[in-house]
Amino acid sequence: MNRKQSELLYEEALKHIVGGVNSPSRSFKAVGGGAPVFMKKAEGAYFWDVDGNRYVDYLAAYGPIITGHAHPHVTKAIQEAAANGTLYGTPTELEIRLAAMLKEAIPSMDKVRFVNSGTEAVMTTIRVARAYTKRNKIIKFAGCYHGHSDLVLVAAGSGPSTLGIPDSAGIPTSIAHEVITVPFNDASALKEAIDRWGDDVAAVMVEPIVGNFGMVMPQDGFLEELCRLAREYGALVIYDEVITAFRFHYGSAQTYAGLKHHDRIKPDLTALGKIIGGGLPIGAYGGSKEIMEQVAPLGPAYQAGTMAGNPASISAGIACLEVLQGGGIYEEMDRLALKLTDGLADSARRHGVPLTINRIRGSFSTHFCDHPVTNYAEAQDTDSEAFAAFFRAMLNRGVNLAPSKYEAWFLTTAHTEADIDFTLEAAEAAFKEIAR
Ligand code: PMP
Repeated sequence: MNRKQSELLYEEALKHIVGGVNSPSRSFKAVGGGAPVFMKKAEGAYFWDVDGNRYVDYLAAYGPIITGHAHPHVTKAIQEAAANGTLYGTPTELEIRLAAMLKEAIPSMDKVRFVNSGTEAVMTTIRVARAYTKRNKIIKFAGCYHGHSDLVLVAAGSGPSTLGIPDSAGIPTSIAHEVITVPFNDASALKEAIDRWGDDVAAVMVEPIVGNFGMVMPQDGFLEELCRLAREYGALVIYDEVITAFRFHYGSAQTYAGLKHHDRIKPDLTALGKIIGGGLPIGAYGGSKEIMEQVAPLGPAYQAGTMAGNPASISAGIACLEVLQGGGIYEEMDRLALKLTDGLADSARRHGVPLTINRIRGSFSTHFCDHPVTNYAEAQDTDSEAFAAFFRAMLNRGVNLAPSKYEAWFLTTAHTEADIDFTLEAAEAAFKEIAR
């Protein structure tokens, strides 16, 4: 496959944009380097690059594009919003509609506030939790990604009883020391941390179903124990549902039928993003009335935004959720993803390539290993070179995956049976190639 134009554009981009990309996850650094593919057009389940090559897309822009690219209903909503003026700096009726839709689907939220990204949503839930509890520390889980604000770019210290170390330059140790990181699905490590630091902990923050080191389900009882421990120590529970909300069903992970005891795993605050903006920039957070009343103008916790709740993002979000309300949408993504993962597993087995697949309805992750992946350490302990080779072999056959072994494959409402067959054919050849 010829990608000469992408290579030329990459050389040009490097002159003007740091690393040639506007988000590090877009670079091909984790898959052996070189020019990322420059896309020119996207429609439905497909991308076309600047050289005219077509790809079946499973990146879905890291999650938001669940209705496929340029879905006509979403596109029309954006066009109408643009024609009516893109930014007012005043309240609009549209914001009430989307807030009401979110509340109806995620009942733990009495009150909502819109922001512009998942990063902002998470960052603000932490501020609100700190304002409400008048405590400073946060407990989070290794490998969960919560955006790039200072507090959540902190890695584990040498154990649950130690404080965090910065994961990025530019984060003061004093800030990292407000964060404790423990392994996901490890209730005893969480207990050890909360026993040690509990009275200072403002919140326990988690992706209730992980989407950032593959798709990983919480083990039975883990979220119940997390919520129980947090409550026992007076800390709030924050769910980062930036990926998971509206991903598996019309609702969020906290109400997903695959998880049990919804009354016992209810968070105090929820952060949202991605799908709820239908492909335009958005974030939102919400929780009980009492906690959310900490936020300005009602309360002392300040948060604001010039672009927040802008009519284009809100209209795209409403339109996207309207599409998702259609009957059978999630069932069809589930069915196609099952066919795809069954086929991938068969193909890998045939060629002797160890592969663990974690699937949750229409999303799944492929881990090049022969052990289960239930936490970050297990996701790290997989064959990065095999993934990189598979990624490139798929790309060269017209299948676009995220260039990282930790990212998920996302089905959209636009994928068809024929796309799955095409992908499986590519995968058969890719596994054969990498098994050599
Ligand atoms: N939380 C989670 C769970 C995410 O996956 C992401 C982005 N991948 C974020 C927060 C940050 O969202 P954004 O990139 O919109 O700032």
